[in-house]
Amino acid sequence: MGPTSALETLRKGLITPEEIRRLAEEKGYTIVAHNYQIPELQQIADYIGDSLQLARLVTSIPSMKILFLGVDFMAEMMKVLNPEKKIIVPVRYSTCPMANSLTVEMVIEAKQKYRAPFVIYVNSKTEAKAYADVVCTSANAVDVVSKIDSDIVLFGPDKNLASYVAEKTGKKIIPIPGEKGYCYVHNYVKEEELKRIIAQHPNAKIMAHPEVPNNVRKLAHFVGSTSQMEKYPATTDAKEFIVVTEVGMIAKLEKLYPERKFIPVSSMVCYNMKKNTLKNTYLALLEEKYEILVDEDIAQKARRAVEKMLELTR
Ligand code: SF4
Repeated sequence: MGPTSALETLRKGLITPEEIRRLAEEKGYTIVAHNYQIPELQQIADYIGDSLQLARLVTSIPSMKILFLGVDFMAEMMKVLNPEKKIIVPVRYSTCPMANSLTVEMVIEAKQKYRAPFVIYVNSKTEAKAYADVVCTSANAVDVVSKIDSDIVLFGPDKNLASYVAEKTGKKIIPIPGEKGYCYVHNYVKEEELKRIIAQHPNAKIMAHPEVPNNVRKLAHFVGSTSQMEKYPATTDAKEFIVVTEVGMIAKLEKLYPERKFIPVSSMVCYNMKKNTLKNTYLALLEEKYEILVDEDIAQKARRAVEKMLELTR
């Protein structure tokens, strides 16, 4: 399709999932999407997963051009692990407030003050990762911290994940930046709201992400990352599940288990993730923008922190 017909597509509002797939193939892009993207975008993706899962997957596929649908720190993580590949995103400022709450200065100051290793959650800025000792994900945070050779561990930016890790490992975990480090989508789930949903679905199993606060986590049958949530239904005969994480995860679970019912907590919407639409995804492919670039020195240091995680969890 030439530029005129592309403009025609935009003008007439003919942007369909099929048209985006066609354009991606024409331009040689592989589309990878985070679990929290809107269902229409999950439908056009070649791969869907959590941030580190996708960044590592991109390393193993031959495609040199990737269109990523998620938020900025995830796209940067993909670039850090795949410096030779071209990574583009539809929205330049699709950012994560939790990642932004932990600055490089906070990491450096905490390390100087406590003389302890810094475990940084993958949901953080690339620059902050570069100054931390080891990266972790919500799936392996407990494993990484338990294998670190120190009883005192600095952990950031998510205070709720830090408290979960402290409970599971018995180690002294110091959350950085402390009270201000949380994901607004998970932190503001109300116990009363969840109890109301439980009352409507008394036989449902409850799956919760460890980014939720302690009182909400205690109501769950299963606590785990989105990649662990994908596996949980296969381990039980339950027919219904209340999914205590971002609502985008429902589409992924429904696709994996079409015969089961997944109930969202409807207040759990990440507006940053929802900035990607069919229209701006189409435009991104058409104009091959916005390209993600990471300073090579920062990328190299951040890569070291990721490699340390892989070494510890091998
Ligand atoms: S769901 Fe929370 S942690 Fe994830 S991108 Fe949105 S605000 Fe950030």
